[in-house]
Amino acid sequence: MTVLETGGDQLPQERRIVTEIPGPRSRELEARRKRAVAPGVASSLPAYIVAAGGGVLRDADGNQLIDLGSGIAVTTVGNANPRVVARAKEQLDAFTHTCFMVNPYEGYVEVAEALNRLTPGDHEKRTVLLNSGAEAVENAVKIARVHTGRNAVVVFDHAYHGRTNLTMAMTSKAAPYKKGFGPFAGEVYRAPMSYPYRDDAAAGTKVSGEDAAARVIEMIDRQIGADDVAALVIEPIQGEGGFIVPAEGFLPALAEYAKANGIVFVADEVQAGFARTGAMFASEHEGIVPDLVTTAKGIAGGLPLAAVTGRAEIMDAVGAGGLGGTYGGNPAAVAAALGAIEAYESDGLVARAREIGEILVKRCERLQAQFPEVGDVRGRGAMQAVELVRRDSLEPNPELAKAVAQHAGANAVLVLVTGTFGNVLRFLPPLTISDALLHEAFDVLEEGFAAALR
Ligand SMILES: *Cc1c(COP(=O)(O)O)cnc(C)c1O
Repeated sequence: MTVLETGGDQLPQERRIVTEIPGPRSRELEARRKRAVAPGVASSLPAYIVAAGGGVLRDADGNQLIDLGSGIAVTTVGNANPRVVARAKEQLDAFTHTCFMVNPYEGYVEVAEALNRLTPGDHEKRTVLLNSGAEAVENAVKIARVHTGRNAVVVFDHAYHGRTNLTMAMTSKAAPYKKGFGPFAGEVYRAPMSYPYRDDAAAGTKVSGEDAAARVIEMIDRQIGADDVAALVIEPIQGEGGFIVPAEGFLPALAEYAKANGIVFVADEVQAGFARTGAMFASEHEGIVPDLVTTAKGIAGGLPLAAVTGRAEIMDAVGAGGLGGTYGGNPAAVAAALGAIEAYESDGLVARAREIGEILVKRCERLQAQFPEVGDVRGRGAMQAVELVRRDSLEPNPELAKAVAQHAGANAVLVLVTGTFGNVLRFLPPLTISDALLHEAFDVLEEGFAAALR
């Protein structure tokens, strides 16, 4: 059976091991890659993919991996979702590009309307479409600066906002994201994040969200001055930082402080957005209404698209020509986004994220009961993680995370390692995965822990 015959969406939903992973064909491709591709671009598992759909990835050797990564929270509607593929194909047959800044087309407007409707709050909104999460974050900062006439941007420990110059400055982790790439953009200030697992242990008591927010507010007042701050940019659940869910009350307290001081509150929902956490946007879990929301990853079922959506009076501050880009809101990408949004709304995927979340939490807690190295289980919906430490301590255990991920990969389960300390296994499967595949993947992970700790 060729890939064209099956189509990604018709792949049999099973784990399949045909060769060692990566197999001979993947290793051949990897050798070519080493000669042709810049080594700065790394891959978690060099099994070359030829088809994907539902909850599996098929590699060039015919192995089928269970996908717990969704291409980093991108293929939330599944890889090769028929609604996405049909709309993108139809658009490609009509035309591929005009540049929205030259000749507009309806799809761009439709996606803007959908984002204005779906993002938190029922105030009047506007949207600009872009190509990547980093570009969305950059544009949110540009817009906030013009609107406020202020410069400073407040970001957080463990934050990840991208790889461009401004977003490197906003990202927390030095290696591999920043080291050697400076000098970085100025007027970026880093505040302490609410990190319940480590905060509570350090304090010897539960640190409330309000107390964690008070640390941030004190830092801003003392080091910057609230009336010089243009924007406060925060991931409502941190992604690359290690799926850190702030203590309840932290986000509302910061949103309130921002509002009281004329600071634009920007929720970076690039990773947590689009049904992933069991709500359309992660901000909803605590009833936050951000001034601006940045989106990308899950927006278009795998095609490159990103957006800034926000209050009309803030978005309207930038004059004609101040925002845009050659490819921003590409016709095929907006068609795909309309398909993905239809899938989120019509196929019950928000509820499915909550169901998947219940299975993930159960299986993570079962790992924790067996292996004391699992220090913390955290997340929301289909965005869950385990933080690994050395036994009876808080000391990060990146070696264990790596060993388990390697065992998983060799046994056809794709799992991603993340976190500031490289000691977090994150689980973010496509929402089209079956319960059976999830359980099978966790059986493999359990074996991986047992093997690594033996
Ligand atoms: C991935 C990510 C980005 C950067 O997105 P790119 O599309 O890789 O530029 C920004 N913010 C968050 C929260 C992300 O997870």
